[in-house]
Amino acid sequence: MAEITLDHLAHAYAPGAPHALKPLHMTWRDGGTYALLGPSGCGKSTMLNIISGLLRPSEGRVLFDGRDVTALDTGRRNIAQVFQVPVIYRSMTVGENLGFPLVCRRVPAAKIRARVEAVAERLGLAPQLKRPANALTADMKQLVSLGRGLVREDVAAILLDEPLTVIDPQLKFDLRRILKEINEEFRVTMVLVTHDQTEAMTFAQEIVVMDHGEVVQVGSPSDLFERPATEHVGWFIGSPAMNFLPARLEAGQVVVPGTGLAVPAPRSLSEGPLTLGFRPEHASVVPNGGAFEGRLERIWYEGADEVIALGRDGLQVKVRVAGRHRFEPGSVARIAVDPARLRLFADRRLVA
Ligand code: ADP
Ligand code: MG
Repeated sequence: MAEITLDHLAHAYAPGAPHALKPLHMTWRDGGTYALLGPSGCGKSTMLNIISGLLRPSEGRVLFDGRDVTALDTGRRNIAQVFQVPVIYRSMTVGENLGFPLVCRRVPAAKIRARVEAVAERLGLAPQLKRPANALTADMKQLVSLGRGLVREDVAAILLDEPLTVIDPQLKFDLRRILKEINEEFRVTMVLVTHDQTEAMTFAQEIVVMDHGEVVQVGSPSDLFERPATEHVGWFIGSPAMNFLPARLEAGQVVVPGTGLAVPAPRSLSEGPLTLGFRPEHASVVPNGGAFEGRLERIWYEGADEVIALGRDGLQVKVRVAGRHRFEPGSVARIAVDPARLRLFADRRLVA
């Protein structure tokens, strides 16, 4: 188990090529659960492969518990890595697959058997131990890949690169629960790569949001929801996305012209466009007054809630309303926004 430090790390795949991973510096707590979240091509696998040792970073160092492991290959880092496509040894049984890392380390046979049985039990693979691994379904094979990572007692971290993609939704749910139980029981650091915000929010204590090779925010699910560091995060996290309205400075306030949406202007503001943002969850429909009035353009359901889209002068805001209502499409509605939940962005970045 290890605390992982990415020390002034960056990566370009070729000398002079643009950074696939822009310079970053961060430390991941021993025993923590992390998610790397971002769209395809943003550098998630690059970061994960640098941690596991499959890739040497072009700049910076990787430290496990303060020890520089940058030059160590994967085998010597005690890392378990699970990939999108399950890796199994096709000619072996499930049990032999699970025990293989221990066989390679010349662990005594009785010990291997005990470990394999314990891990198989934990993953629900016990009845499959004698079956040829090749005969399993894709999601069971993924469980075997994961189990091979868990069979060693000295793993520093478990790294999972979109491992749930091939897995059916119910098993996905189970597997996420199993991963959390394993984390709680063994306190092993876990890093899950995903492009799915729900997966990240339900799995991780800390989420690393990435965009175009850059780490744009590291925070708990509630940090990302309440205080997105950039408009990108506000847009990427939450459903529907955060509302953003163009604003300007007026008499010591930042206001959205023609609305009641305003916050006190901070003493200094960076150059660039000003925006006020709020979550669809943080507004409510009011009979009169309110901060924004608009025509009801769309109404749809998300679970137990209704979402309404109000439009005015080319602006649109979405509001999530609990329960069922009788909103009349095309009618005019007013909303109030919790002032404590209004966020100011300058040049697309949150103003603290
Ligand atoms: P993600 O896992 O978030 O989808 P990757 O880390 O795989 O993103 O890729 C980040 C960027 O680096 C992309 O632009 C991708 O094309 C590029 N890239 C990934 N692997 C290589 C490689 N082996 N050689 C050159 N470029 C690569
Ligand atoms: Mg990837």
